[in-house]
Order: sequence, then structure tokens, then C-alpha cells
Amino acid sequence: MYYDQHMHTHHSPDSVERFENYLALSEKPIVTTEHLDFFSPAQNKPDHIPDFAAYEAEFERLNARYGNRILKGLEVGFRKEDEKAILYYLDGKELDLMLLSIHHNGWYNFMEVGNDDVPLDRTLEEYYAMMLEGVRSFPQANVLAHFDYGLRRYDVSIEELQTVERILKRIFEEMIRHGIAFELNTSSMYKHQNVHLYEYAIGLYQSVGGKLFTVGSDAHKVEDYEAHFDKAFDLLKRQGVQKLAVFKNLEYRLVPVP
Ligand SMILES: [Zn+2]
Ligand SMILES: [Zn+2]
Repeated sequence: MYYDQHMHTHHSPDSVERFENYLALSEKPIVTTEHLDFFSPAQNKPDHIPDFAAYEAEFERLNARYGNRILKGLEVGFRKEDEKAILYYLDGKELDLMLLSIHHNGWYNFMEVGNDDVPLDRTLEEYYAMMLEGVRSFPQANVLAHFDYGLRRYDVSIEELQTVERILKRIFEEMIRHGIAFELNTSSMYKHQNVHLYEYAIGLYQSVGGKLFTVGSDAHKVEDYEAHFDKAFDLLKRQGVQKLAVFKNLEYRLVPVP
């Protein structure tokens, strides 16, 4: 059975949600993907580093109570400059799922800028260059999360996104080489209204041989768990996708699109 593979709890600095509230929603496995992000001195803010001992302790306590339904995940915010710190943090940690995200460029978070701040063509170029570097440098990731995160504050047409089609293809080819799945982020699609960009990107990913997909809500509170999943599943079926990947111990198996 398919289940949400992108959500946060109080182990992420931008969420206060409890595992128990997600567990109460269904009998399915729950995997939380907590934020790991390092910042540059220019950003002058504390790094987002999950206290893994506390995360594991809660995980073990709840798994004993809830029949081992919880899986351990991280959302790794990647920047080449932070590669060493990321690898140092991950060393020796047992995980089920690792998302790869591009959130910031060492100066600002991409969600903080829109057309009034940085011209779209510059953001497109910078954001997807960083993403290509990310999938090349961090091939151990399981899933590329919200490929459109850097565009959420812009109103981007498919034609505008097509200006970076060449680099998107290279990103997707690199993902296929390393078995990294493409995430349908339902927050991006339906809250930030980028569903048209997903329709285009899914087709492009398929055109270079991409077959691995996940769907994630990016819930930071329980109300958003599996939000709009029906619509995302319909979209996938319309694009000829019948299977989704679910990860455990960093390995995937395929399950039918519900
Ligand atoms: Zn994210
Ligand atoms: Zn997230």
C-alpha cells in the first residue's frame, strides 16, 4: 500500500507536530523526513540539525507501542559547500529514506524571492545548476524532493521552464543513473499551484527513461497529511504511471498507484 513519504514533526525546526497524531490517522507506515540544512556565515542563522539521539529514542519508544510502523527519514538540504558537513552528520546513521532538496544558495532561501527580488531567468539558471550539482554529488539520495521549490514565489509558465529544459534533462538522466525517484510534492502542486510544471516535468523525466515516482505532502502539521493525493494519483495515471516507489532501509520496492 502506498503512504505519504514527505512529512515533518517537531524534530524539524518549522514543525511542532507529534508522531502520534500522524499514527492516529491510519494503519499505514509513517515515515518522517526531518530537515537537515546547513547555512553559511552570511546567513547568520543556526543550522537545522536533527538531534538524532532524541529522534531515535522517540522512534524506538513509539515503534514498540505502534507495531513498528514508523520509518526514519531525513530531508537533506544540499549545497556543494555543505557536502562535508552533511556526510559527517550522516556517517553511521541508519535511515529508511533520504530526500534531496535544494532550499537555499548560501545567501537566501529560494522561497524568499520572487519576481520583485530576482529576475526569473537568473533564478532558473542558478536553481537548476545547484540541483544538477546536488544529484551528481549526493547520489545516495533516494528521492529528489519538490523540483520546483525555487519557483514557488514566481508565476512560471511551461514555456519559461522550458528555457532550462536541457539542464532539467541532465538532472533527470543523473537521477535515473543513481536510482533517485522524482517526487510529486502535493504542496507545490496544489498549494503553490505548480501542477502544470509537474505535468511537463513528469513527461520530460519519462522521455529520458524515468520510471521511479513518489508522492509526498510535505506536511508540517497533521491536517496536511496526504493532502490532494487523489489528484496526484489521477495525474500519474493520466501520464501512464502505474507504480510508485516506497523506501525502507534506503531501498525501494514498487507498489501500485492507488
Ligand atoms: Zn523542502
Ligand atoms: Zn519538507
